[in-house]
Parts: sequence; C-alpha cells; structure tokens
Amino acid sequence: MAELGTLEQGSRHDLRTGLSPDAPDTGTYSGAGEFGYVHSYETSSRYDGPGLRAVLFVSGCLLRCTYCHNPDTWHLKDGTYVSAQQVLDRLGSFASALRALDGGLTISGGEPMVQAAFTRRILEGAKQMGLHTAIETSGFLGDRADDAYLAALDLVLLDIKSGDPATYRAVTGRDLAPTLRFAERLAAIGKPVWVRFTLVPGQTDDPANVDAIARFVAPMKNVAWVEIQPFHQLGAFKWQAMQLDYPLAATVPASAELVKRVLEQFRAAGCRAR
Ligand code: SF4
Repeated sequence: MAELGTLEQGSRHDLRTGLSPDAPDTGTYSGAGEFGYVHSYETSSRYDGPGLRAVLFVSGCLLRCTYCHNPDTWHLKDGTYVSAQQVLDRLGSFASALRALDGGLTISGGEPMVQAAFTRRILEGAKQMGLHTAIETSGFLGDRADDAYLAALDLVLLDIKSGDPATYRAVTGRDLAPTLRFAERLAAIGKPVWVRFTLVPGQTDDPANVDAIARFVAPMKNVAWVEIQPFHQLGAFKWQAMQLDYPLAATVPASAELVKRVLEQFRAAGCRAR
C-alpha cells in the first residue's frame, strides 16, 4: 500500500504538483473509497454553498477547460494520498464551528466523482456529524453518482459550462450531454442545485449560448440559483509553472457590462441569477 501523506490546509490558489508520482491514471481510477488523492482544503469559504464552508479540493478531472484555474488538480499524481478517515478526523475538529455558522462541507476539485467512492465516504461521514454537504461538479461523471451518493448530498453546485454542445466541446474537450442528463436527474428527484456558469469573453459569452442554458434551467424548480462566475486570470500562473500551453493568456476578464447583460439574460428567462 502506498504511504499516506499529510492532509494540507491551504488554498485553491496554491500550486501542488508531483506529490504522488505512483498514483494511477485519472481516467482509469476506481478506488474502493478508503483512500484517495487530495489537493488541499480551506476552512472558511463563504462562496461554495450556504453559510461557512470547509472546502476539500480533490484531485482528478477528465475535462480540460480552457479557463481552468486549477490544472494541478487534473491528475491524481499531483495530489496527496490520504485516507478518508484522515479527512473526517480533521473535519471533526471544526464541525461544531461550521454547524454554528449554518455551513458545512463542500467537496470540489478537480472533479469529486472521479473518486466517487472516496468522496461518498467523506460526505456520509460529514452528514453523520450533522453537517450540510455539497459537491461542486461538472456533472460529466454524473452517472457515477448512485442513489446512495445523492442521498449523502444536500446541494449540488453544478457547473454548466456551456449550453451549446460545440462550444462545450471547444471549452472542455468533452460532451455536454452527460451534464444535461445529470441535471435532469437532479431535477426529477428535487435535489437542490445551484447552477454555476463561467463567463469567458470570446468563449462562452455568445447570447445564444447563454440562452440555451437559461432555457434549460428555467423550468427546474430545484435550481435555487444560477451563479455567474466572471472569468479571471488568477490561475494563469499555474499553467505557466506546469509548462502547459495556456489558451486564454490574452483573454481579458469579463467586464461589469458583460456580467450585467448575462445576468439579465438569465433573469429574463425566469432564472434566479446572481
Ligand atoms: S471541470 Fe473544473 S477542474 Fe476540471 S478542467 Fe474544468 S475547471 Fe478545471
């Protein structure tokens, strides 16, 4: 068995690479859940769900978003190998503070469903502590979330990166259909969802692209919010440090006018957007 590492507190903006060089390939991974690969965790986010959140960033993602802020979460080998129990022990030490501030645990990444058994074990443990639970996911691997997985979740932060299949493929390298299928499944069971949309000038800002998401989401009663995430360049240094070819090096952050236009588009379609 691989040696366990130290679960690092930090920030999503920390660069972490090469911590588990013997890790399996992300695309073929199917662990039993007792152990997994983690980038880092934060203890006081007010951004990743209701109340004060602990956010665990897990490794592994099959998408390759052009605007990804955390390319150091794409591969398991860049994460730290830890046990689910290590994570839960750490979470337990500040669970009472999270409960007191109406918060909970959010698992982000990377993509939580790459390590579905591992993240499920952590979500179930968090629920046993009385914590509100959430994941942030692209939904691309939504078929890996069985009913027990969804039962361990109070909220899904669902990134719908584009409403147009061709744009989705250009931006992520993958198909849009699995995400829409997952969204429809969540709607059918009434699972609370906040949809997140990253607004990238020149990539996802086409009015027809925005409209396609808005029309898809508007009838879904389980979607409490559509959140616009304006593109920024905070992750650019990671692409450089990892010697990756960064396609958005010349892209400017989304302007206030553009954000306003897109918000109005969502609201006009009947979505509660912010
Ligand atoms: S889904 Fe998230 S972690 Fe994966 S490439 Fe896209 S932005 Fe990065």
